[in-house]
Amino acid sequence: MRLAILTDIHANREALEAVLADAAGMRIDRFAILGDIVGYGPDPDWCIDKVADLQARGAITVRGNHDRAIGVPDGALNAQARRVIDWTVDRLSAVHKAFLSELPLTVTEEDMLFVHASANDPQDWIYVTNENHAMPSFRVSKARLIFCGHVHKPALYSCDLSGRVMGHQFGYGTGVPLIRSRRWLGVIGSVGQPRDGSGLASWSVMDTDRNELTFRRVGYDSATTARKVRSAGLPEALAARLVKGF
Ligand code: ZN
Repeated sequence: MRLAILTDIHANREALEAVLADAAGMRIDRFAILGDIVGYGPDPDWCIDKVADLQARGAITVRGNHDRAIGVPDGALNAQARRVIDWTVDRLSAVHKAFLSELPLTVTEEDMLFVHASANDPQDWIYVTNENHAMPSFRVSKARLIFCGHVHKPALYSCDLSGRVMGHQFGYGTGVPLIRSRRWLGVIGSVGQPRDGSGLASWSVMDTDRNELTFRRVGYDSATTARKVRSAGLPEALAARLVKGF
């Protein structure tokens, strides 16, 4: 099976369209969406509809912290993020809100675990940004493959039989073999708000037959998304960030 893993779409229609177009050429059998469908971006309803469509066709979908913040006070979000969530709430139908509120925090399928942030205490939205932060996910789960998002920068960690965790370098567009003597944690980069300086939308393909994970980047019309952010009256920093990529 070839599984497309997308996360942190953040209401960015142009980025999601570009990723789905890229995926259309990659013989994808199924999708997994790791949360944060909304927040930061100007097209929350369109993005929820698209994800709901993918879910109806079998996609795995879990909830992110921005999805959770719809309709509930969340002091953990910074003021800018909260402002966009409040703007987003007014644009969503009851059906959209119900869709977000019914998403599970984690999904386990076969030897894979899908979660938005760190797998330990997933409701605490802990960022997995280094080996020490990756370790608790391996401790709390027996899954051979764990996939999360939340960080907005792609990364790859593995854990050996003795519990030692290490980070791995990888290139884009080339499959990384996930050798079976280790367990793996893939932090998938953000579709709609990349924060690693390139501004390119990020996603990944897990080929379970070949046992390879491929990180991909794809350009999209970030100027259009930035223009929409500005004309919606959302914070200027969020528009600039899309073009700069950090
Ligand atoms: Zn996010």
